[in-house]
Amino acid sequence: MTVSAILSDKGNNVVTLGPKATLAEICKTLATHRIGAVLIVEGEEILGIVSERDVVRLVSAGGGEALSSPATSCMTKNLVTCARNDTIAVVMEKMTTGRFRHVPVVEEGKLEGVISIGDVVKYRIAEAEREAEEMRSYITTT
Ligand code: AMP
Repeated sequence: MTVSAILSDKGNNVVTLGPKATLAEICKTLATHRIGAVLIVEGEEILGIVSERDVVRLVSAGGGEALSSPATSCMTKNLVTCARNDTIAVVMEKMTTGRFRHVPVVEEGKLEGVISIGDVVKYRIAEAEREAEEMRSYITTT
């Protein structure tokens, strides 16, 4: 199964903020949308990502003052991305190697979605259930 299949299930919606958004605004956005990371973009350009782990790290180091920092000083700039045709195994490998839980889907520089570890787990459970059902059906019909 590929990234495309997950996107056709969950949609292409990506929550983004501009580079001037403060860490406080980022927190508000994460809470409102019940998500773990927000992409920082300027027009079509993808600048970076800020996840809840960054919020914890920055507030732990800088206290409440960190909440007025701009996204540009909070985000991870070296983004690891995936393509629509990548398999879920490839995405899992990227998450495991990079120790992060979000992988933006980018095609020709354009942001087309985000795959989270929750999406991957959901897919793996559905796949395991399907395999078990196929096995049950094979056993009962042979
Ligand atoms: P997460 O596990 O996704 O909450 O992120 C853990 C750390 O990795 C944070 O510092 C994020 O900014 C960073 N991060 C999250 N996703 C990516 C990604 N796709 N590429 C690079 N860094 C990322």
